[in-house]
Amino acid sequence: MQRIIIVGGGLAGFEAARALRQQQFDGEIIMLAAESEPPYDRPPLSKGVLLGREPSVHFDLSSITGLDLRLDQPARRLGPGEIETDDGVMAADGIFLAVGADAISLPGAATLRTHDDAQQLFQLLYPGAVVAVIGAGWIGAEVASAAAEAGCMVTVYEAMDSPLATALPTDLGLLTAPWYEQAGVDLRLGERVDDIAALGADVVVAGLGARPATGWLRDSGLDLQQRDGAVVVDEYLRASLPMVVAAGDCAAWWSTRYQRRLRVEHWDTALHAPAVAVAGLLAKTDEPYDPVPYFWSDQFGHNLQFAGYRADDARIVVRGSTNEATWAVGWVRDTPQGCELAAILTLDRPRDLTQARRAMTAGSLIDVERFVDADTPVKSALVS
Ligand code: FAD
Repeated sequence: MQRIIIVGGGLAGFEAARALRQQQFDGEIIMLAAESEPPYDRPPLSKGVLLGREPSVHFDLSSITGLDLRLDQPARRLGPGEIETDDGVMAADGIFLAVGADAISLPGAATLRTHDDAQQLFQLLYPGAVVAVIGAGWIGAEVASAAAEAGCMVTVYEAMDSPLATALPTDLGLLTAPWYEQAGVDLRLGERVDDIAALGADVVVAGLGARPATGWLRDSGLDLQQRDGAVVVDEYLRASLPMVVAAGDCAAWWSTRYQRRLRVEHWDTALHAPAVAVAGLLAKTDEPYDPVPYFWSDQFGHNLQFAGYRADDARIVVRGSTNEATWAVGWVRDTPQGCELAAILTLDRPRDLTQARRAMTAGSLIDVERFVDADTPVKSALVS
């Protein structure tokens, strides 16, 4: 194999390039990046850059020898064994799709997806600025949190009945509602915004989620998920055309563990999936990508972490009490072998998360009575 083209210069693209060299690929690696900046990390955008704390967000490319990084060079078309850009058509022996997702925007509203977005928004978040955030999902909550910390007058409009409504059941999402009030943020649940101008805000930010950036692949013959346009890949992250793999926010992979297709638009997936996809591309191994999904969010001075998959037949059990300053909630399901932990959400309890994630990865069973006792370490509640 002589040349591999990575399309996308985000975390998944960077990890793909790293994995190619780590797995002894010594051919040409071309990375096509639509942005004008070298690859960088997105979580610090809402947690640091928005607050004027400019953490080092760029990845260290120095370990990736000979990486041919082409900035401002979006891929326009995928054909069999080739990619087209504005500069022409390039042949490739392997193609790694790591195009991520684009923020869903609204006319007249800003979004937060890129480093540039964050730097521009930072300028607008001055003390006393009137800020409207549309959507109380992960990004909306983190933007509201940063804006409040910057001294802005913040209102969050959420069409659903609770914050984080697409990710969590209503009663759990509502546990975060007091954080808004404590930060001086006016949280308006059940309010859909139809007219941005009528909000009378200095800045309006849309936190409406993101969609896989795969519009350019529509006529490529590649299988795309009808619902959201994600690249459909198997458990080895192989797409439907030969020698094409995809990972990160743009891909929906077949999860052997959960027997369903998953698209997890979070950092941990973009970090770990590329090495598996690369191994498949180089025919090194046939290990599937089969993680227990994981993500976190920092908002209003709290750290929320989630791991697992909320199976429909799982019931919720609370570890400790959600009236306490820290808590964890588990989703458990009965199996013929015993009780299984399907997922966990923790508030400021990182150790619970780590131990539960390890247990889920190992497929351990738990004793629910011990699990709900917040003083018992999660690992001591395991029965196998
Ligand atoms: P991206 O990071 O989106 O990178 C894809 C790149 O491909 C982009 O640079 C894009 O411009 C480029 N591209 C698109 N189309 C083309 C094309 N045709 N040709 C060439 N290049 C193209 N996750 C967590 O788990 N916890 C967090 O706290 C958290 N915080 C976040 C905060 C913010 C503000 C954002 C935006 C995301 C956050 N995430 C968080 C999510 C996490 O950052 C993403 O899941 C991760 O960045 C996905 O990486 P990716 O490489 O798949 O996609």
